[in-house]
Amino acid sequence: MSRPQGGMNTTNLSSNEQPRQSQFKAVIGLEVHCQLNTETKLFCGCPTQFGELPNHNTCPICLGLPGVLPVLNTKAVDFGIRLALAVGARLQPTSVFARKQYFYPDLPKGYQITQYDLPYAVGGGISLSDGKFIALTRIHFEEDAGKNIHGDRVSYVDLNRAGIPLLEIVTEPCIHTPEHAGEYLKRLRSIVRHLEISDGNLDEGSFRCDVNISVQGIHDKELGTRCEIKNLNSFKNIERAIQYEILRQIDLIEDGKKIVQETLLYDPALGRTQAMRSKEEAKDYRYFPDPDLKPLIISPERIERVKTNLAELPEAMANRFSESYQITLLDADQLTHEKELALFFEEVVAKVKKEISPKIVANWILSEYLREHNEKKWDFKKPVITAQNMADLLNLMAEGVISGKIAKMVFNEMVDTQADPSVIVKKKGLVQITDTSIIREAIATILANNSGQVGEYLSGKEKLFGFFVGEIMKVSKGKYNPALVNQILKELLNDQEKTLQAQK
Ligand code: ADP
Ligand code: MG
Ligand code: ZN
Repeated sequence: MSRPQGGMNTTNLSSNEQPRQSQFKAVIGLEVHCQLNTETKLFCGCPTQFGELPNHNTCPICLGLPGVLPVLNTKAVDFGIRLALAVGARLQPTSVFARKQYFYPDLPKGYQITQYDLPYAVGGGISLSDGKFIALTRIHFEEDAGKNIHGDRVSYVDLNRAGIPLLEIVTEPCIHTPEHAGEYLKRLRSIVRHLEISDGNLDEGSFRCDVNISVQGIHDKELGTRCEIKNLNSFKNIERAIQYEILRQIDLIEDGKKIVQETLLYDPALGRTQAMRSKEEAKDYRYFPDPDLKPLIISPERIERVKTNLAELPEAMANRFSESYQITLLDADQLTHEKELALFFEEVVAKVKKEISPKIVANWILSEYLREHNEKKWDFKKPVITAQNMADLLNLMAEGVISGKIAKMVFNEMVDTQADPSVIVKKKGLVQITDTSIIREAIATILANNSGQVGEYLSGKEKLFGFFVGEIMKVSKGKYNPALVNQILKELLNDQEKTLQAQK
């Protein structure tokens, strides 16, 4: 088999695999479990705080003790309505909580409360940047299970997570590439963060994705047998896992083998999926409506109330940015992916002088700022560089105090020290030099020291202009006003040309 095995290589198909792959079509459906950031759990008043001591956030209800009654968290329901509205799903006037029975140590009641045949929202979907629409099947409420912790020769159970509200968001089997799957997930995460219903944190497990994948011949009408990959905790790994799994299934089919429906785990180090458990026969969870919970009735008035307070969604925000700030939709899309970044951008735009266009602000934020943000893993919620400092830096440029080149140096210093840009400029003596006599003298010296190059330039090698600029900037450490450097350099070279002509 020629399928690549290394983690890095799984997306690099060798050329002889391309035509082979094109006889097949991959079908992908995604199930996301998104943890709602309510203060309390779905059916009891226990706090949802992450990182508490094990079993600290528990009570008789979420411990599954007998004789207790669950009470539905109304805020969780409002959060669910927010998402349904945001993705255009149809809110169902009546939905039902069901008991899903199975045995597992982290499930103290012996059943999980979830919505089964009557979810609270159906349909809707999310559009991707190339116009592809990812259709949703359903969104429903369910409670999370606890967590098993396996020690050396003992295992423990932590029930802090038991009963935390989740939304399960299920797509139709309508995705065909790892890239679309990845973009859909990023957009969904962006939406729940904009709506402030979840922190969407993949590391802490508040945004978990299971991937269902099958492969079929391009002319086949029926879906192939699917495998499900569980516990994927980064967007990169999700795309790699899908890529690997598609090729694995194609290989099997081509070898005349059958795909067996099974649950897989992705090993990021090996870059491959491995069987976790085969899905014996389909499990019978003996679902039935929870007799302790009334059907969930969502009134039109309630929907209206949630709708009026709905946050601006990333897509709408990107359109608005692109139009009112005259920036490309691509830039606007990147700026609005994270709400805090979008607000940061708007704050800087509001604080800069009119010489600094929103386009310049966007460029600085998307290149310099985001580069540092990603490299240093900053938290959008705790800005290391304030909007005021960012604006002050750009204003120093607008006022001609520093050049663009120096501004980048000052920015790097701001990243390291968090000092105000004007303080850095003063302390380091970076103020731009605009005194023409100083600049003229320095340029004259450089031309005199490089008479060979001057000769070549005058005989037609115009590329050397850049060489002179470089030399001047070296001497001035970037402090000379670039426009003046250009102007005076041209003048002095012209003078030399004239002298040359006169001598002939
Ligand atoms: P469950 O995992 O509980 O059995 P479903 O049958 O509703 O749930 O399917 C879950 C996910 O699997 C959905 O996102 C659906 O689109 C996807 N799916 C179903 N059949 C296939 C298939 N043959 N290939 C790929 N994805 C599939
Ligand atoms: Mg599933
Ligand atoms: Zn509780």
